[in-house]
Amino acid sequence: MRLLLVEDEKKVASFIKKGLEEEGYAVDWASDGEAGLYMGLDTFYDLIILDVNLPVKSGLTVLKELRNQNITTPILLLTVRATIEDKVIGLDTGADDYLPKPFAFQELRARVRALLRRQSKTEAPVLQVADLTLDPARRIVSRGDQVIDLTAKEFALLDYLMRSKERVVTRTMIADHVWDGGFETTTNIIDVYVNYLRKKIDAGNEPKLIHTVRGVGYVLKAE
Ligand code: CA
Repeated sequence: MRLLLVEDEKKVASFIKKGLEEEGYAVDWASDGEAGLYMGLDTFYDLIILDVNLPVKSGLTVLKELRNQNITTPILLLTVRATIEDKVIGLDTGADDYLPKPFAFQELRARVRALLRRQSKTEAPVLQVADLTLDPARRIVSRGDQVIDLTAKEFALLDYLMRSKERVVTRTMIADHVWDGGFETTTNIIDVYVNYLRKKIDAGNEPKLIHTVRGVGYVLKAE
């Protein structure tokens, strides 16, 4: 699970980031609204925690722009202003939940869990490229009518490639998203995993879906 935290107060941000990382989430941090918007549009997140009072672009503007761009990721708003009007504006603009500051970490954690649970039950659309489908909620991958068994890492890698379909992803991007950047990207572990996936997804099937972009990385597409 990868979360985006958009929060300008460094102390609050590092407290939230650290706490959530201890819970096993990968957390990216943006310190202003513009950076947060850019990251929210660029990367698939399972959840976005968005402060309302932000420099450069306000949290509500970021929220509006993400929804305008059809980003349906659940969004939890953080704010010091907790009037009914503010809550209504936030929820009307497309936020999924609202947490007034200051809050106890346990409460944040409970809301994050609840939003992620709701998301995996209701949304989690099945990803499809040609006759390859990946169901994130049920964790089932199939090509045509054949179900494909993947390890957790292979599943995470394919999930990332399918969400990035038709876009070239570098080994560094793959390392960041699938391995959380936890190893030197000079190792060939990514190539090894891509080859495992190729054997399971592409061997004996047409069209080939996983393509190498020499010197750059990989792209998943149906041609
Ligand atoms: Ca703030």
